[in-house]
Amino acid sequence: MTLGKNFRLPTDVKPKAYDADLRLDLDGDRFEGELAIEVALGAARRAIAVHAVGLEVMDAHAEVGGRSIPAKATADAESETVTLTFADELPAGEALVRIGYRGAFSPGLRGLYRAGSIAVTQFEAADARRLFPCFDEPAFKAVWRLRVSGVPNQAIAISNGKVIRDENDGRGDGRGGRRLTFAPTPPLSSYLVALIVGPLEASPVAVARDVPITTWSTAEKRQLTAFAQEVAGAVLPRLEDYFGLPYPFGKLDQIGVPDFEAGAMENAGAVTFREVALLADPATAPLAVQKRVAEVITHELAHQWFGNLVTMVWWDDLWLNEAFATWMAYKIVDDWRPSWRIWMDFEGGKGAALALDAMVSAHPIRADVNNAEEAGESFDAITYEKGGAVLRMLEGFLGADRFRDGIRLYMRRHREANATADDLWGALGEASGQPIQEISNGWIRTTGFPLVDVARVDAGGPPTVELTQRRFFADPGAAATVGDGAATKWLVPVVLRFRDLKGVKEQPVLLREASARVKLEAEGLVEWCIGNADARGFYRTNYDDATLARLLPAVGELRPAERIALISDQWALVRADQAPIERFLDLVVSLRGEEDHVVLDEVVGRLGLIEHRFLADEDRGAFGALVTKLYGERAAKLGWSPAATEDDETRLRRAVLLRALIITARDPNAIAEAERRLPAAGAGAGDVDPNLLDVVVTAAARRASEPRFEDLRARVKSETDPASKRRYLHALARAEEGRLPARAVSLALSDEVPMQDFSSFMSVLLSNRATREEAFAMIRDRWTETRAKADSPMIVRRLVEAMAALPERRHYEAVRAFLEAHPIDGAKQAIAQTLERMKMDATLRDRILPRISAWLRARR
Ligand SMILES: [Zn+2]
Repeated sequence: MTLGKNFRLPTDVKPKAYDADLRLDLDGDRFEGELAIEVALGAARRAIAVHAVGLEVMDAHAEVGGRSIPAKATADAESETVTLTFADELPAGEALVRIGYRGAFSPGLRGLYRAGSIAVTQFEAADARRLFPCFDEPAFKAVWRLRVSGVPNQAIAISNGKVIRDENDGRGDGRGGRRLTFAPTPPLSSYLVALIVGPLEASPVAVARDVPITTWSTAEKRQLTAFAQEVAGAVLPRLEDYFGLPYPFGKLDQIGVPDFEAGAMENAGAVTFREVALLADPATAPLAVQKRVAEVITHELAHQWFGNLVTMVWWDDLWLNEAFATWMAYKIVDDWRPSWRIWMDFEGGKGAALALDAMVSAHPIRADVNNAEEAGESFDAITYEKGGAVLRMLEGFLGADRFRDGIRLYMRRHREANATADDLWGALGEASGQPIQEISNGWIRTTGFPLVDVARVDAGGPPTVELTQRRFFADPGAAATVGDGAATKWLVPVVLRFRDLKGVKEQPVLLREASARVKLEAEGLVEWCIGNADARGFYRTNYDDATLARLLPAVGELRPAERIALISDQWALVRADQAPIERFLDLVVSLRGEEDHVVLDEVVGRLGLIEHRFLADEDRGAFGALVTKLYGERAAKLGWSPAATEDDETRLRRAVLLRALIITARDPNAIAEAERRLPAAGAGAGDVDPNLLDVVVTAAARRASEPRFEDLRARVKSETDPASKRRYLHALARAEEGRLPARAVSLALSDEVPMQDFSSFMSVLLSNRATREEAFAMIRDRWTETRAKADSPMIVRRLVEAMAALPERRHYEAVRAFLEAHPIDGAKQAIAQTLERMKMDATLRDRILPRISAWLRARR
């Protein structure tokens, strides 16, 4: 008999506490465990099922009322459980279940695995079962008391609780070392338990209020820990103040792990990170890297309350954890460093979520999740960024104070326990008196989002606009294929912004119906009106010709986020065949003088996309000339070397302008300048502004000769700064000349590319015209090796998504045939989304490529 993949543990057996004695064999990558689980039985039972994968149970029995009752263990692979069947019935009430077991380190990047010299755990969503037989579902919170022996004398061991005892482990087998006992945790879900053992070094301890904070790295990166300490020390008190509750886990360790699946993992009190998301020197790191580090640290710290202290009942509310942490991170970092304008970075992620959510293969934020594998699939832009954007929209609608009051109520009510989305809506509704459940459910439980049409009504009388909502699809033919889904209506918290005689005003409107006429509360003539003030709403806006015609001359009066939304929405309308590409290209040209680097980045990003996917080879010269004409003069005026007093805004503007010239336009003079700076780029700050490192290294790598390629390869090996190391690694995949593209492809499966970077390395290869055919051929012809190199659900999903870089219809056909012949467990959604996107882009390419060609010819 098998329990099946969707088996869930019964709720009448509850773990109260785990007492775990773990003996590590770090030479053999194996472990043995003695586990005592205090359980509460709601009813008498002969059998208890616990999760376990790859663990050999050697002995199991229960202790009840002074008796010891032996058990037989039966493993079931499909449900990833071991069922303990006892010789005698266990009565209702408390029992102590003892399990002796052993196992090996896991392959890939989950369970207990090896990352270089470090042994580290990664348990979310459901891999605690690879180290402990346990109740591995988030609703089963329990106290964890952990002891670990076999820790070498020079090594460090970190877990959720602080070390309360450090002693000789008394092993006489020559492999002895220390035995460490960790303080018991508050009640924790199994996915939040962590253990890290290895030669790590500590930063000096920082203290935020009374919480000691330490950042850990391998020895050669210790000088890169100060910034992470500074960030954590600054944001932790802000989070305590927001939640109105002290940090719940006593101490905070932040650990940089040399090979890590996700960006970071919020284990209670022991947060693990990919090194590039934690370790950076602000003196030499581009601002984008610093912001990313701050945002990730804050995201994980927000989880210590939202997720760790109050935990979702089941994975269908994973979004609640991730959306909240996403939103909170931007809010807190913005409070700490307002000059960074970090919310503008959020726009990029929101754009990705809007793109994904406009597809037929999208899913609701809160989706049904049948098992842990499906839970893993939910870690995407819809869960994080759409979820975060919807929370931001709700905060805007309720007001920041009332929203915070609702969050505090929710925290107090469910601390050290579990909760669902409805509990959150309940608390927010109570705190605000607003129909929050009604509004949110539409956004959380249905797929997609509305396109809001804004049209002026010219009927005499006061100025009026007509608002119309309909579900937006990226694919022009999609509405016909989804049936009822196409008729979805939302409660849309629209905020209009317009200029009248007296100035600029905002007017909120809750759009309930398919359409509504709204009288603008204006005095005199309305010059312009936009439909999504500050772009806070998670929807797209379409203007009728008259409204758009008035908006374009006033574009400088719009806020940066509104200008970004205008560009992003217009491009989306082109994709959906609801606006002509020529109008979009004219818009781009009209924004040539844009000063704000974030808006400029959006424009240049679209130009880069057109260059990559939608351009005929014979038009590359004309397109490059156009981009040079748009930005060349401004770039020349700024030069390459910033004055010491220059502000970040100017430095970042220079970086975008040079990116346009070098990466998109391939301007030979700018490229020569970039190549000249490659030697200095390796020497830290040198005379290359850190924000220019990406373009310098990319330009030099594209034109690399053999010696330069070898130089870059050597830099990958010798570089200790994680962002620089990654930059050089990706640079190898950008080679375009001679035999180097083939060499680059052959590196992908070698040890020179760590597993954590495999999908991003492949993504660069698949985007590079000189390597993409060979890179895809490698995936196809050496699939077994490729799959082994992507031995992690998240990495293999990113690998699938990377294939979408292939632009032509023949690529789509080839990728589809390949993925149909090679189904991948845990990547169903990624495959559907990738194929839909590729098909849509191939169709778009057929439609707009000749028109872009004609538009360019007409401009000559
Ligand atoms: Zn998270």
